[in-house]
Amino acid sequence: MARERLQKVMASAGVASRRECEELILAGVVRVNGRQVDSLPAFADPDTDAISVDGRRLKPPQRVYFALNKPKGVICTNRDPQGRKVAVDLVQCSQRIFCIGRLDADTTGLIVLTNDAELTNRLTHPRYKVPKTYIATIKGRLDADAVQRLKRGIWLAEGKTGKAAVKVLKAGHKESAVEITISQGLNRQVRRMLANVGVPVKSLKRTRIGKLKLGPLPSGQYRPLSKAEIASLK
Ligand code: URA
Repeated sequence: MARERLQKVMASAGVASRRECEELILAGVVRVNGRQVDSLPAFADPDTDAISVDGRRLKPPQRVYFALNKPKGVICTNRDPQGRKVAVDLVQCSQRIFCIGRLDADTTGLIVLTNDAELTNRLTHPRYKVPKTYIATIKGRLDADAVQRLKRGIWLAEGKTGKAAVKVLKAGHKESAVEITISQGLNRQVRRMLANVGVPVKSLKRTRIGKLKLGPLPSGQYRPLSKAEIASLK
């Protein structure tokens, strides 16, 4: 998690109001990683810094984990200069949370929000190859050759993508639905892979991250993850 003003970190941990925490800092009773901090501004990372007040260590913030069914048009950064709706605003939580990874503004479906920076690394770092499953509604249909090409991997500007699991869920002349599972997180990867085999994507929804399933959560709604779900992601 990012560094924040020390008085804010202290206030969020329930020490006192921000104003009173400023006074405690100036009084010289606050230590960060063993070093006295007695002037402002002062900053600390609530996740990684050991903060003590009068010799008593603050409890690290409680970890929180939510699954959100992201609607179309909502973006995954914590603030948007263009003023678009951001995913964190759809989840009521007193902790400072953020999205793990990104979905495009026009992609819907499963996104995890948390204050656990380590889990973010675990789910987004290419080394861990966490599979993510999407359902794409496409114009027209995917022929057998296109399916094979997607399965083998597609050459994009960044290089060849890894192998994908591909399942045609519905094949129609006008519109089809395909489930595709990839283990990388390149920008707009699924859309670009499908464009590469000649099919335009009409809509894209993420349904699964590792073992975590979106399930019947309505669009725009969120739910806390169960202990078992959190464990399955780690
Ligand atoms: N692939 C895409 O094209 N878009 C997303 O949001 C995620 C994966």
